[in-house]
Formats: sequence, C-alpha cells, structure tokens
Amino acid sequence: MSTERETLFAGPTIGDRGITLKSPREIESMRRAGWVVAKALDSMMKAIRPGMTTADLDDIASAEIRAQGAKPSFLGYLGFPRTVCVSVNEEIVHGIPGKRVLRDGDMVSIDCGAVVDGFHGDSAVTVGVGDISSECQELMDVTREALDRGIAAATHGARVGDIGWAVQSFVEGRGYSIVREYVGHGIGRALHEDPQVPNFGTPGSGTLLRKGMVIAIEPMVNVGGWRTKVLADNWTVVTADGSMSAHFEKTLLITEGDAEVLTRL
Ligand code: MG
Ligand code: MG
Repeated sequence: MSTERETLFAGPTIGDRGITLKSPREIESMRRAGWVVAKALDSMMKAIRPGMTTADLDDIASAEIRAQGAKPSFLGYLGFPRTVCVSVNEEIVHGIPGKRVLRDGDMVSIDCGAVVDGFHGDSAVTVGVGDISSECQELMDVTREALDRGIAAATHGARVGDIGWAVQSFVEGRGYSIVREYVGHGIGRALHEDPQVPNFGTPGSGTLLRKGMVIAIEPMVNVGGWRTKVLADNWTVVTADGSMSAHFEKTLLITEGDAEVLTRL
C-alpha cells in the first residue's frame, strides 16, 4: 500500500473530500490559477539548459507565481519543501529541487501548482535538456498524446474509466507501461479532491463525469515496467527497474463538449 506521504501530488485521495461542482465564479478563479501555472511552466521550459540546477527551476517558478500574486500549491503541503517537483530521467514524480545539475540529454518532468482566490491549478510537463535521445523523445511524445487522449475522453456523461482506458490502451499499444500507484484527481479548493482519475481502467466504469467538475489528468509512462519505488528522501518516486519515465498533466473543466483546459496560457 502507498502511504499518505507517497501519494501527495498524484495519488489516491487522502481522505474523502467528495466531488465538487464548480460555480461560474469559482471556475473563473480556477482559470486564473491555471494560467499562473501555465505561465510558470512556460518560463521554466524556456530557461532550462545544461548546467542549471533543479533548484534554479524552482526559483523561476517561485518568482513567477509570486509575481502573479498567487501562491504555490505544493510548498509546505505535508511538508514538501519547494515550489515545484522536478523529476529527472528514471524519476517519475515528487522529486525535490536541489543542487543536482542538469546535463545534456537529461529528461526532466516539472510538476507545478498554484493557488488563486483559494483555488488550485495543477499541471506538469516533461522536457529534454539539450540534445536528448530518440528513445526519450518518443517516450515524451507518447505520454503527451496519452494525456490528449485522456482529455478527449473527459466529457459530460462519460465515466472516469473511459479516461483511464483511453490513456492505458494507447500507452500499452505503443509498448510502454502506465504507472498504477499514482493517479489523477479532482481539484478545486483542495489540491486533491474526489474522484481519483486513474490512468488505467475499464470503459463505462467508475464515477460519472458531469459538467462543472474540474479534474487533473496526469499519465506517468515508463519505458519498462509500471512498478515504482520511493527513494530514501521519502518523496522521490522512481521506476522500480530504473527505466526512463515521463509525466504530463493538465487541469480541465468538464463541459458538455470538449473539456476546457484551464492550465494554459
Ligand atoms: Mg496532480
Ligand atoms: Mg501535478
């Protein structure tokens, strides 16, 4: 079983907070939070280069979020010490920014959250540093497309299992594995609300999606097996077999048509 600490930013719900439907006014706050997150991620993606430390990325995010008058979602959350999670190569999620120097060819997953008017936005991207291998590029491309397919399945009247199936069937069909122990989630006044949104599942099963729900879909895709382990820092989740892993995430509003991605510029 995963522990509460292990399942912070992408994991089984910590307690039952229920499913909330957002009002138009709340959705407006969530659009602003999403924009701030997208802006911070964009700034980090533009700045990333060999020789930077993971803490340098964190500093950029911190400055950007505060410049927009928002607050970081992750800082202090169950004791997490920094603004963003930075997970390199075989690290999947929840890496702590620090002195690690990024090298040419590294693949870096950055997960960022921000709060505006009490509402959270949550998004992650994986980017290459300098010249990356074709293996890494393909892994990132598959993971990004898996997220897009999950978003396409997320509409009023569909079920959470439809999202999971859309992601899983695509990823496994391409020969990769999807992480099981960490999942997407509802989001709003709490960073993690119900329902859980697994990246695997059975079509037609699970919670019914309704317009006004806001969820974060976040596939974590491994080149090797799906199993994970947590490093001695009690935060960093890595692939059990040491294979490379990528992570993309967006926060989106369920509507009667295409979902509205909130974490965008
Ligand atoms: Mg999340
Ligand atoms: Mg996240």
